[in-house]
Amino acid sequence: MKITAIDTCILAVPTPRPMALQYPRHQLVVAEISTDEGIKGLGYSLVFGGFGGESVHAYLETRLKPALLGEDPLFIERLWEKMFRADMGIKKQGVAGYALSALDIGLWDIAGKSAQLPLCKLWGAVRDRVPAYGSGGWSKYSIDDLVGEAEKYAAMGCRYYKMKIHHPDPRENRRRVEAVRKALGEKLRMMVDVNQRLDVLGNQRQAAALEDFDLVWYEEPVLADDIAACAEVAASIKIPVATGENNYTRYEFRELIERKAARYLMPDVCRAGGFSETLKIGHLAAAHQVAVTPHLIHELSIHVVGALPHRRAARPRHRARARRAREIPQPLELSDQRRAEGAGAERTAQVARPGLRMLDQRMPSPGRTAIFIGGETAPRSVRRFHESY
Ligand SMILES: [Mg+2]
Repeated sequence: MKITAIDTCILAVPTPRPMALQYPRHQLVVAEISTDEGIKGLGYSLVFGGFGGESVHAYLETRLKPALLGEDPLFIERLWEKMFRADMGIKKQGVAGYALSALDIGLWDIAGKSAQLPLCKLWGAVRDRVPAYGSGGWSKYSIDDLVGEAEKYAAMGCRYYKMKIHHPDPRENRRRVEAVRKALGEKLRMMVDVNQRLDVLGNQRQAAALEDFDLVWYEEPVLADDIAACAEVAASIKIPVATGENNYTRYEFRELIERKAARYLMPDVCRAGGFSETLKIGHLAAAHQVAVTPHLIHELSIHVVGALPHRRAARPRHRARARRAREIPQPLELSDQRRAEGAGAERTAQVARPGLRMLDQRMPSPGRTAIFIGGETAPRSVRRFHESY
């Protein structure tokens, strides 16, 4: 089999309220890989908030796409290395990491379709359902928005809700968490997300103010670049730390593990290096008794979680944390989803409709108009049209 063409585009994805209060749109950088045997692979990277999608697209189109044309798409490891080692003066993080990830995902889609297997089974599946959590709770939400969103997720069957704690006053963040906790009671357990906004001392103060809420985890406390500071936070607060959505490749995750910077690792399949690298990170974590809970892109990440064996991976520091680790082994964002039985990544993207809700609408993009469709009526996940409508 040979790669004959790679067709790329950027899709703008409008978001619904209340998320639109914070991020009116996201971007998808999409690559459709064609082969001489007629199989096509769909890969994409979600650029959250849409910041820099054009740069990702340019790097993919000009630097990585030429490296794949004419190659056998089933030599995925070889092609991953070829892309990773292109332009040795540019680390494959940020823009280049997103671009590489989109193509790796597309290659695996071809592999799944070629084998007529969903990817989780191609990788040796261990489960066909995964726990999931509802995520949102942005800083621009009112208390009513927060409670409304948490109730929506609870009604969808989620047992966990994650919200942001972005206010500069730790007491205000406590007040918002407490409001949701009181409104939802025992229906949901909660996580909180700092999104890299604090330093070590700020996190110690903030975490201390939240200790009595029995939080599942405390996410991304410091700049993702500063793994030493994350480790210092993890060692000094009582809530388990989760991090990794802005970390790249097995090498950064190895450092997170070795420094004991988190009990939950959160690789983003569209940033960390695609399916290939996220699987490696998952197995590396398993060897160190650390749990993996992939970040976003539920319709893709569900394959990785389905193929990772370390269900009770988190090794707690005391008994209470052991209980938590068993309760929420590898949660995935949004609602519980049954795994698709089709082939490749794309098939699951169609069937896992709840994960595609925000994408299931028409999206204009520069130069062309596009439509991204999820759900049972769509023969494909992505359709593109060359004129506006
Ligand atoms: Mg986060």
